[in-house]
Amino acid sequence: MLQTDLIRYLKGVGPKKEEIFNKVGIYTLDDILHYFPFRYEDRRNFKKIKDIKENEFCVIKGKILARNLKKMPYFLHAKRVKNILEIAISDDTAVTHCTWFNQGYLYDKMTIGDTLIVYGKPRAHDGKLKLISPEFEIFEEGEDSLNLGRIVGVYSSTQNLGQKFIRKTISLALENLNAETKDSLPFDIRRGKNFPNIAQALKAIHFPQSFEEAEKSRERFIFEELFFSQILVYLRKAKHRSQIASPFKINAELIEKLKQNLKFSLTASQDKVLSEILEDLQKNYPMHRLLQGDVGCGKTVVCAFAVACAVSSGFQAAFMVPTEILAYQHTETLRNFFDGFGYRIEVLVASLSKKEIEKIHKELLDGKIDIVIGTHALLSDEVAFKNLRLVAIDEQHKFGVAQRALLPKKGINPHYLIMSATPIPRSLALSLYGDLDLSVITELPKGRIAPKTMWVREDKRPWVYDFIKEKVSAGRQAYIIYPVIEENEDEDLRSLEVMYGKLKKKFSKFKIGMFHGRLKPQQKLSVINEFREGKIDILVSTTVVEVGVNVLNATVMVVENPERFGLAQLHQLRGRIQRSTHAPYFILLSGNEICEEVSQRLKALEESNDGFRIAEEDLKLRGPGDFFGRMQHGLPDLRIANPLRDIELLKEARVFAYKIIKNDPQLQKPEHRFIRERIDSLFGALKDSFSLLKNNTDDHRLKITNDHR
Ligand code: ADP
Ligand code: MG
Repeated sequence: MLQTDLIRYLKGVGPKKEEIFNKVGIYTLDDILHYFPFRYEDRRNFKKIKDIKENEFCVIKGKILARNLKKMPYFLHAKRVKNILEIAISDDTAVTHCTWFNQGYLYDKMTIGDTLIVYGKPRAHDGKLKLISPEFEIFEEGEDSLNLGRIVGVYSSTQNLGQKFIRKTISLALENLNAETKDSLPFDIRRGKNFPNIAQALKAIHFPQSFEEAEKSRERFIFEELFFSQILVYLRKAKHRSQIASPFKINAELIEKLKQNLKFSLTASQDKVLSEILEDLQKNYPMHRLLQGDVGCGKTVVCAFAVACAVSSGFQAAFMVPTEILAYQHTETLRNFFDGFGYRIEVLVASLSKKEIEKIHKELLDGKIDIVIGTHALLSDEVAFKNLRLVAIDEQHKFGVAQRALLPKKGINPHYLIMSATPIPRSLALSLYGDLDLSVITELPKGRIAPKTMWVREDKRPWVYDFIKEKVSAGRQAYIIYPVIEENEDEDLRSLEVMYGKLKKKFSKFKIGMFHGRLKPQQKLSVINEFREGKIDILVSTTVVEVGVNVLNATVMVVENPERFGLAQLHQLRGRIQRSTHAPYFILLSGNEICEEVSQRLKALEESNDGFRIAEEDLKLRGPGDFFGRMQHGLPDLRIANPLRDIELLKEARVFAYKIIKNDPQLQKPEHRFIRERIDSLFGALKDSFSLLKNNTDDHRLKITNDHR
């Protein structure tokens, strides 16, 4: 197959260019053919400069008349403007100006007299229309038919790969295609959906004759991605169902006794979810269930019922959580809950002494321990069980797919329950986690007071400090959250270290504690315990408190540089203060100047306390690529599909995939050969990409804020 050839065999792709392509994951002809334009420009007709309008996207072509690079004085650097490049261009109808900030290196490229193609949205400025940071290409005389006089695809260009070079390279790769080219999307589906075949579709998505043609091809590729992801989902589901598990013995008496041990009664929603789980546990194939519910809805206790059922049926249960703090906290919760039941519960975390760890390893193998609650330490090769039949994973999105898959392997087809507080819309959850059954807790326990969320800017800092003083003086406790531990030259973010010093002076009457991922495990525990016991009034922390920390009296949280956090993450943080009967306050303290996108995010938080709505908003703003790292759901990367936007296509793809797997669960029929091959190649690629050591930090924008060691 030609498409698996390496791109270096294409004319013009030398070792340097190949390396750049490789960096964005392009190795083969097939890869580059699937490197789709993110938008198109209609270059059949350029707009005359005299006709451009404010706020209307336009493509213009003109000669560079003048250029000017203004270096800004140092005091303005704080506003991040170091230089401004301005050029004047003209066609035969009028002159307009283009401006770029901090892109001084473009100056040398803009030779006076050169012709420029510019794409952007004109804005009015001092009575004139200007294009601010527009995209551009330098036009060369005698340019070929790939770049002009047609609808032109625009690619997210990387480093020194210019648009024209990318187009040229893709057009060379396209030459290898013809009607015989293998098409892994089944013919029936193509016919049913009226999709072009692979060769036509690839040609049309890169060099369309019309916008409709481009759109239809794009739809085909979106569908294709979704279709294969759904095939994978159903293959996995079929595999789960083919395994044999030991049904748990569940009796009403036990459940009743457990309920009596609680200081509260379950919400209706918890009850419903519990019965779904109990039903699963009595089947002879393993449960694979995702339990979702907003922060604070009470997932732990539901999970604890399942744990009790395992132990009372004579089996072991393992409960994995992302942080040591959470491991200890859940252990305490479960010990209280199982008081009088005689279950043996132990914690397994990396910070225990070697001797303690070895003892636990031995007792797990001997079956002396009924329930183990631990961190990644549970995944170590030395951990083995006598009879592990229930695996529960809390905050499952904090683990990679491969990590999650490892723990059940230590048991005998154990029942498997994973929990997440990052609620995603049901249809999406079904699709992305479609191999799992889904339970959702839809309400919070009664009596909770929704936090009041306030977004304030830097100029209100004194007010924020006064507010903290007032609440702490009244007996409450507060968190102040920072995006980074240390100051960092490149970014002007508030850092925990620097602010800790300042806050200590500011709040000299109160006891201030510091908490972050670099503390030793013992230090972490003691800080959290002091905070819990009220010995610390104000806890200055990174987002490491986001996961699970449960201190009822802490009702104020201030987040500094909230612009650096994702919506879902901010919502998680907010969940920390939602547990008391005192009114909670969540304060976002941002810089004075905030861009539109961030402003939308922060406003969304002010307006809603509903995790599902927040998640949906987050998905919309960030796009699914960022929202679901591959590490989370274990499906191939969705390159052009967006499950939220493409929900209708997704549903269709799901139906097609279901029919195929239902009739041919192993994909053995000859007509499914291409699907099989495709799945094999996707599976293969996925296997390689799951590094066990890597934590869930595939969200680049949030990398610095994920402090979960
Ligand atoms: P999450 O779903 O975020 O993991 P938790 O399981 O940590 O939430 O529960 C949050 C708090 O709510 C805990 O202190 C727990 O004891 C309490 N809780 C759970 N269920 C109920 C309930 N039905 N009524 C009152 N409090 C509850
Ligand atoms: Mg929880």
